[in-house]
Amino acid sequence: MVPGAAAGAAAEAVAAAETRLERASALAAFAAETSACTLCALAEGRTQVVFGAGDPDAKLMFVGEAPGFHEDKQGYPFVGQAGKLLDKLLAGIRLERADVYIANVLKCRPPGNRDPQPSEIEACEQHLFKQVALIEPRLIATLGNFATKLLSGRPDGITRVHGTPREATLGDRSVTLYPLFHPAAALYTPSMMKTLEADFARIPGLLDAPAADSVGPAMEVPLEEPEWREAVASGTGTAGQEPSSSPEEQLDLF
Ligand code: SF4
Repeated sequence: MVPGAAAGAAAEAVAAAETRLERASALAAFAAETSACTLCALAEGRTQVVFGAGDPDAKLMFVGEAPGFHEDKQGYPFVGQAGKLLDKLLAGIRLERADVYIANVLKCRPPGNRDPQPSEIEACEQHLFKQVALIEPRLIATLGNFATKLLSGRPDGITRVHGTPREATLGDRSVTLYPLFHPAAALYTPSMMKTLEADFARIPGLLDAPAADSVGPAMEVPLEEPEWREAVASGTGTAGQEPSSSPEEQLDLF
């Protein structure tokens, strides 16, 4: 490398390191601020706010639904069975948690792992949008219906749009949204695992791609209470467990 080019590369490395430190500092300050949030009633029943975790400078961000029992106790997202599956899926594409950032639509646990309520999402979404603005990920993988609908601003259900990237504008930045089934869905319905693995396999290519394709016409898939919620909460949902109904019937749940 010629001296001028070497100096330029060194300056870029220093600037990147400074940016990383600034992001980490801003995110830590925002996490501290959010830890006392009382914007919705979920503040009353939580053990703690589950802000998010991972690389503040991540190019890939995952957004799930809400903390469950274990997340609420430990303060980290995806630490139960679904978290173990997420780790395995990440390992399948040669990534680990330290390489990505993981957050949820809601930062506090809904009682009994019930669905997030619209008023709770409305109160909490500002936290997620600010996280995205601070981290500036290139690709956001939305896990399940709630994250997908919130960040896309569209009613398309996850069964229709999973595995289909879409360009979106969040704040003043363009980002690729990539909807995926929630790992908990695959725990409850093992036949869904292959779909999830196939969708995950496209992530490295999307991180390298300049832009994503668009999805097809909007189709509303109504949200229903997913049965996996109770299965995961009670610890009975495991990969390898036989589904209680046909995969086709269960796919309509997600
Ligand atoms: S769920 Fe979100 S808005 Fe509600 S109290 Fe927790 S951090 Fe605040």
